[in-house]
Amino acid sequence: MSEPLIQIEQGRPAGDWTATKPEFRKGTFCHSAAAKNLQYLGLPNPREWQPFDLDWKLPADWKKIILDGFKERLGRFRSLRLFMDICVRCGACADKCHFYIGSGDPKNMPVLRAELMRSIYRRYFTATGKLFGSLAGGRELTEDVLKEWFYYFYQCTECRRCSVFCPYGIDTAEITMIGRELLNLVGVNINWITEPAANCYRTGNHLGIQPHGFKDSLEFAADELEEITGIRVDVPIAKKGAEILFVTPSADYFGTPHYYTLLGYLSLFHEIGLDYTFSAYASEGGNFGLFSSHEMMKRLNSKIYDEAKRLGVKWILGGECGHMWRVLHQYMDTMNGPADFLEVPVSPVTGTRFEHAKSTKMVHIAEFTADLIHNNKLKLDPSRNDKWKVTYHDSCNPARGMGLLEEPRYILKNVCNSFHEMPADTIREQTFCCGSGSGLGTDENLEMRLRGGYPRANAVRYVKEKHGVNLLTCICAIDKATLPTLLDYWVPGVEVAGVHELLGNALVMKGEKERVTNLRGEPLTEEPANSDGPEVVHA
Ligand code: SF4
Ligand code: SF4
Repeated sequence: MSEPLIQIEQGRPAGDWTATKPEFRKGTFCHSAAAKNLQYLGLPNPREWQPFDLDWKLPADWKKIILDGFKERLGRFRSLRLFMDICVRCGACADKCHFYIGSGDPKNMPVLRAELMRSIYRRYFTATGKLFGSLAGGRELTEDVLKEWFYYFYQCTECRRCSVFCPYGIDTAEITMIGRELLNLVGVNINWITEPAANCYRTGNHLGIQPHGFKDSLEFAADELEEITGIRVDVPIAKKGAEILFVTPSADYFGTPHYYTLLGYLSLFHEIGLDYTFSAYASEGGNFGLFSSHEMMKRLNSKIYDEAKRLGVKWILGGECGHMWRVLHQYMDTMNGPADFLEVPVSPVTGTRFEHAKSTKMVHIAEFTADLIHNNKLKLDPSRNDKWKVTYHDSCNPARGMGLLEEPRYILKNVCNSFHEMPADTIREQTFCCGSGSGLGTDENLEMRLRGGYPRANAVRYVKEKHGVNLLTCICAIDKATLPTLLDYWVPGVEVAGVHELLGNALVMKGEKERVTNLRGEPLTEEPANSDGPEVVHA
């Protein structure tokens, strides 16, 4: 973005909303999926096309495919039929979506986003809609409607914030998921989702890292950690009979600042003598299937459990990831579970039995670590994080998708001396999305990402100005990948880190040498640079 400020004009639709068509303006939409990725995944209608093309090269019977798919899903998901029927248009959700707040586009109001699909439901699947058409709120399914679905269902991060405010509990994220699933049936998908999914099939992870690269990266991390701490840690891979399989997003092996979180995990596991293993086959915790179809989600999730069975572990520990946990918490039981071949997770250090994970057999690293701290099993020196004034971003999926609110805060309050919450209506269940989740964290839609992320950035700006906050922590790989760009634009001077990076800094390891740097290799006391972001104008 070269413009110094963004004008946001919010308002109601001018005239008949059904008559306005999406404008595929550069910076606001994602590129289509490459044919090779659809072929690799066995998805329909692989071809070269782009959203701004007039001809999307749809199959001749595309309309029948969509309507048949819609009908089948109305039968399969009772929630979908309910969400199609019960909205009373009260408007409580209208101003709760970060994309509406940041773009002002009325079709980014959750109620209107859902109406894009509801109007088709009425026309084709209700008696009044079949008889009275537009008089009953129905509309014809045309190619323009399909293009509108594509535009707006890929301007929804499936974050579920709107559902918190809906008196009927309508979950627009679920509607978006079905919308994307139907588009998939005719080969209308985005590359930022299909390529990571295809990579996951080819090499075990979204980034396409091959097993030898994965091994090199872990060994390099062990080398770096040795330089910082003086301690050589083990990085077991595919160790049969280990007690625990550890699965984390692949960005942790290569991305920045994710990599420092990995160093934190390695320090922790060494210090408590954990009997665990990484896996090259299950080297991805993230699941881009969540962003395209239930079928793809199931296929990708099953890799983790297949590997747990092959290695003969007792249970699974999962790293800092967002959507991995939404998949686990909301879908695993009925999708690939229950995982009866595994044991109910028990911490080998504290003896705590994680009863809530007795079906999935998978525990979140924040729960695991909070339990260690609570039982006084870790020696911590929070002053090693004194260069940071810290706030915490509740990543949408762990927060709203699984209710993981206290554990990350508990860890942070034990590993740093300066922690400040953002305003109450922007955190916990009401947290604002990063604006780039659900597979939208690509470059070509950067303007829309910055607009969608504006409410989150604005809350960060508040604590920066009030308390001098210079570090935004989170427990999601997509957040770690996309928040730095967002903050560089709106709140320069605030950096991004994982919770276990700060844990690793504070962790006093037995036999360590005197620490002079943090896990980033920076002097422990150096202040990061600070500056002000652009001004925002509401018109
Ligand atoms: S799920 Fe999130 S992104 Fe989608 S409409 Fe609701 S608030 Fe907006
Ligand atoms: S809050 Fe719920 S019922 Fe009200 S308009 Fe939004 S989706 Fe419909």
